[in-house]
Amino acid sequence: MTAASVPVRAERVEAPYEGRTALLVHGGAWAIPDDAVEAHRSGIEHAVAKGRALLRHGRPALDVVTDVVAFLEADPTFDAGCGARLDRDGRAQLDAGLMDGTTLAWGAVANVRRLAHPIRVAGMLLHHDGQARLLVAEGAERFAAERGMELIDNEALITEAEQARFEQLHADHTRFHTSREFSGLEADPHGTVGCIALDQAGHLAAATSTGGASYTHPGRVGDSPLVGCGYYATAQAAASATGWGEAIAAVLLCGRTVDTVASGTSPERAAAERLQHMAASITNPQGEPATGGLITLDASGRGGVAYTTPRMARGSWAEGGAIRVAV
Ligand code: ASP
Repeated sequence: MTAASVPVRAERVEAPYEGRTALLVHGGAWAIPDDAVEAHRSGIEHAVAKGRALLRHGRPALDVVTDVVAFLEADPTFDAGCGARLDRDGRAQLDAGLMDGTTLAWGAVANVRRLAHPIRVAGMLLHHDGQARLLVAEGAERFAAERGMELIDNEALITEAEQARFEQLHADHTRFHTSREFSGLEADPHGTVGCIALDQAGHLAAATSTGGASYTHPGRVGDSPLVGCGYYATAQAAASATGWGEAIAAVLLCGRTVDTVASGTSPERAAAERLQHMAASITNPQGEPATGGLITLDASGRGGVAYTTPRMARGSWAEGGAIRVAV
């Protein structure tokens, strides 16, 4: 298959029937195995229901995306917070970022190993004095601890399934001397989580959190905490992405998607076009097109989803309508 012929699946999310509020949630785009579909579906459904309740209570979009992503960080089904992929040292390293579309304030943490909820620390940085918006590793953990957040053991983020995955990769690496590093293959597990929301005041926000990719070099940071790459929001649109982080960063996927929506393209078409552009522009070392998934929402509550992978865990709700979930 040539890069230019990559099939991108795209779907529209209805605008609110009454009032304005809406939200979209994702839990990664990859070849989610059949036996994991139900856990993904249930996790996304509960996350959307949580976001809906918050929006109905009049909470700001920024709080909604933070709480929904924190909820998914606690669900070991997804690759964020507890359940993160393990790096080559067998440790979890987490990245997260979020943005307020009204003020363009953003906050992010990268390569943290002792925080259960990196998205909450990213939120503290957004509300901080603006001198630092992205903190990494021990500096981010110290910032969090100074503000009363508990520092946990790295082991608390590691599930049995991820430990087993690590041991398999490590054995292959040692035995065959293969550098079986993450390289954007669609079969590689992803499970980054993201949420975008439009609140009663018409404000948009976006948040993304990840445990990165399996067996990466310690210290590797992907797109998820990088503003304009794994998330972006303005007064016109918001977006959150998942997939091969190095490719997503190279094409500024969320920033460009937001601009494309702002210039009048429908959200589902904008998401599909930007993903198609990424897949056509970048191939992994095996020569396969870059893979990923994307959710986007405009200021009138119209949403769009697009992905190049066999499956994407996703859900949405718009005021007056029902919760929709698909994997
Ligand atoms: N984009 C994430 C990263 O590269 C991985 C993912 O979406 O699953 O760190």
